[in-house]
Amino acid sequence: MSGSESTKLAELAKRRGFFFPSNGAYGGVAGFYTYGPEGAALKRHLEDAWRDRFTVREGNQEIEAPTIMPEAVFEASGHLEGFDDMLVECAECGESHRADHLVEDDTAVEDAESLSIPEVEELIREHELVCPSCGAALAGEPVEEFNLMFETTIGPGSGQTGYMRPETAQGIFVEFPLLAEYARNQLPFGVTQIGPAYRNEISPRKGVVRVREFTQAELELFVNPETDEPDLSRVADVELALYPIGNQREEGTEYLETTVGAAVEEGVIASEWVAYYLGIAQEWYERIGVDTDRFRFRQHLPGERAHYASDCWDAEAELGGDWIEIAGFAYRGDYDLAKHAEHSGEEFTVFEQYDEPLHAERATVDPDMSYLGPEFGGEAGEIAEALERLAERDRTAFEGETVSVDVEGEPYEIPTEKTGFSVEEVTEAGEHVTPHVVEPSFGVGRTLYTLLVHAYREDEVDDEPRTYLALDPEMAPTTVGVFPLMDRDGLGERARELLAALREAGFEATYDDSGNIGRRYRRQDEVGTPFCVTVDYESLESETVTVRERDSTEQVRVPIDELVAVLGGLRDGDRSFEAIAEEYEHQELSAGTENAAE
Ligand code: AMP
Repeated sequence: MSGSESTKLAELAKRRGFFFPSNGAYGGVAGFYTYGPEGAALKRHLEDAWRDRFTVREGNQEIEAPTIMPEAVFEASGHLEGFDDMLVECAECGESHRADHLVEDDTAVEDAESLSIPEVEELIREHELVCPSCGAALAGEPVEEFNLMFETTIGPGSGQTGYMRPETAQGIFVEFPLLAEYARNQLPFGVTQIGPAYRNEISPRKGVVRVREFTQAELELFVNPETDEPDLSRVADVELALYPIGNQREEGTEYLETTVGAAVEEGVIASEWVAYYLGIAQEWYERIGVDTDRFRFRQHLPGERAHYASDCWDAEAELGGDWIEIAGFAYRGDYDLAKHAEHSGEEFTVFEQYDEPLHAERATVDPDMSYLGPEFGGEAGEIAEALERLAERDRTAFEGETVSVDVEGEPYEIPTEKTGFSVEEVTEAGEHVTPHVVEPSFGVGRTLYTLLVHAYREDEVDDEPRTYLALDPEMAPTTVGVFPLMDRDGLGERARELLAALREAGFEATYDDSGNIGRRYRRQDEVGTPFCVTVDYESLESETVTVRERDSTEQVRVPIDELVAVLGGLRDGDRSFEAIAEEYEHQELSAGTENAAE
């Protein structure tokens, strides 16, 4: 899709109610979009498909947490300190810009986000970059870190500081102690959440691609890093287009066409869990209609990786000539849970039972305080603690007549018989494990936009230009359009009856009786409705209707009492339209063209 096609899609999105900038009546505010009726339906279908794949079929649990969280959460998570983008302000017009994006747009540097502030300042100087708004030179302007979180106050008065969550993930991590209980403390277990996230982006752009409020669909999988492994056999043969670090660094190399199994075996993807989810995601993207020829997984460069992630890949879609991140897959280690444990003082672990109880020896001391007290006075307590630590560390120290310990640099000699040293047999049933986290994190708006861009088509039908969205029937906002050929002679009544019956059977159906039938088909084509049912004169005689398929514009005649089964099979992908066309009578377009019938 070219730049002009992106413009046409933006126009279509607004005109037909997919999405549009919010608050237009008040002049609008950048970075906020409203999904209209078509867009909201598409988004709902997308979220349902995600939920089906990543929650239900994976056996995970979905939760819904608040979107405002107290400051302490983000102190622990590191967002307060480090969730920043690079900002440069134009001294001339006062406009703020994302410094790394300016560098990427106007130089050959592809990944300016991973550079340091002085490096970005230097690039701005070296390439004489100018303000995109007014054209003034930006060389010499300071580049600053700008925290992307929206701050708010909780409660009246000065209240408590809160933040709009910048990712849904934290709402899962902070509730880990209870979530682990619900999962009966059995690893691995996964928790998902679909909901809004907020980032005060410096320069929102590209429609819904970079906005300040957006929907995320995230899965946090908690695993025991020592013992849990994914079932790679399920996805081993899934084909992937990978863009690993090595290929990104080598000029002119494209991506690596491989399979999940081979990528793991050859060490291209370091984490088996990440590889597993790339495979699952690849299949899911295909199912919902992403064009896999315009899709790849790109590995994060070391400087680009989030502070917590050891291996990270982005799903990227080609949109209007640019590769855009639409999802991230990160191995986050124990970073999140360890931080919340440290800051909250709560337990963020799971007690993992060993298969067999472990028998071990443990060295302990039981110092004779009636000796230590009189002998060492105020130091006695600390000497006892030092003895305990020493016993755990080095039991050979207790082999002689006396034991020496250091307390604050002072050496003390204690007769071994006064330490109560002994070695005991202990049985350990299991251990406390801080689970590691594997996180597939999807942007719903960006995925929705990808579906639209990849589905956008222009062709000619009956010598007339046509624009249509080749959306997957499962995703399309409306599954079926129902039309009377004309609203007379009982055709309208019959069509409305049929509409009611289809809705009753669970179809998202729409009715249209205005304008010629060709125009009505076009209206549905433009919003991606895959099937249109027309009630004509023959319908009244033979209890049949025509079913037209969007992409081919082919029509077949189907008995009304089989319509629900036929449309259901088509929508759910159980039957193809070609198979239906073979089974039922092909409908020659009566007046020669779609446009002629009135
Ligand atoms: P991140 O936590 O930055 O990896 O983001 C996870 C996903 O959220 C990304 O892959 C995007 O799809 C989406 N996302 C992040 N920032 C934005 C934004 N400003 N507008 C829309 N989607 C976003």
